[in-house]
Amino acid sequence: MASINLYSDTQTRPTPAMRQAMANAEVGDEQRDQDPCVTTLCERVAAMLGQPRAVFLPSGTMANEISMLVHCRPGDEILCDKTSHILNIEGGGPSALAGAVMTGLDGDRGRFTADQVQAAIRPLSRYLPRTRVVSLEQTANLGGGTVWLLAQASAVAEAARAAGLTVHMDGARLLNATCALSVEPAAFGKLCDSVWIDLSKGLGCPVGAVLAGSSDFIDEVWRWKQRIGGAMRQAGILAAAGLYALDHHVDRLAEDQANARAFALALVDCPGVSIDLDSVQTNIVYFDTPGQDANALVARIAERGVDIGAMGPQTLRVVTHLDVNAAQVTEAAAIIRQVLSGT
Ligand SMILES: *Cc1c(COP(=O)(O)O)cnc(C)c1O
Repeated sequence: MASINLYSDTQTRPTPAMRQAMANAEVGDEQRDQDPCVTTLCERVAAMLGQPRAVFLPSGTMANEISMLVHCRPGDEILCDKTSHILNIEGGGPSALAGAVMTGLDGDRGRFTADQVQAAIRPLSRYLPRTRVVSLEQTANLGGGTVWLLAQASAVAEAARAAGLTVHMDGARLLNATCALSVEPAAFGKLCDSVWIDLSKGLGCPVGAVLAGSSDFIDEVWRWKQRIGGAMRQAGILAAAGLYALDHHVDRLAEDQANARAFALALVDCPGVSIDLDSVQTNIVYFDTPGQDANALVARIAERGVDIGAMGPQTLRVVTHLDVNAAQVTEAAAIIRQVLSGT
């Protein structure tokens, strides 16, 4: 039976070569800045993102949360898209931890405009929350893996700066976006006061994220990292996976994106499926199944050996990644077609 996991790009297992790199890692005490692999990883990611410094963190969620802890004081407001991870999938973290108000802008598949930012910024008043941060998510996960174009992100960053706000980028899949756009990650990184990439999504590492920003920002991040227990010891084992991934798993993101496109094309004319090809921009494919219950479909598809996600009552999601090749994606599409068309 097929065993094809298209649930998420978090499902990847470290490859034998990545495990080898991890096994061979030179390590030291990360909390004392003495782990050589972590130091190299942070320097590489900082340079890649066009920022002076970076810090290694156990997760992307911690990168978002610590960033907001540094940027906000209680009562401050974060502007983000209504679908964003930071607003919907982090347990209300910025409110619980930083005491911030989150306002979800009504973007287009996760991407909002400079005009929307300008309209949302509150005037200074003792009655109002102080609008403090604009957070962009690249790619927009629940938006469908959609890509912020550089011009739109620049315009948003400019509008935010002009109003004295801080610009944060949740770049969990920034490298998927820059692969799709053929631009350097620093082009986006330089727009931001804080920006991070996830190692455990398309890059295929087991754990970790790297958060970059100014030297002062990173000093403050370290204070929080220490305070909330994110400082590590021989974390070079994990950083070595990140270094390996930067060498071997970045250019191949193009394959994931071709596979996602192929999957969408294989399903676009399937009876009972509604899929918007314009929304398929990276490695994520959302599709609707009008009149059919998504959870029941996921269970029937799983019986045939293909794991996918139910993202709404009649919405399914497929995510491609380095543990599924083109042939498996074609096979999965054929199986899903059979289940959806009842054959
Ligand atoms: C996965 C994800 C996160 C959280 O990253 P973890 O490393 O899983 O904590 C944050 N934002 C977006 C957009 C994500 O897709």
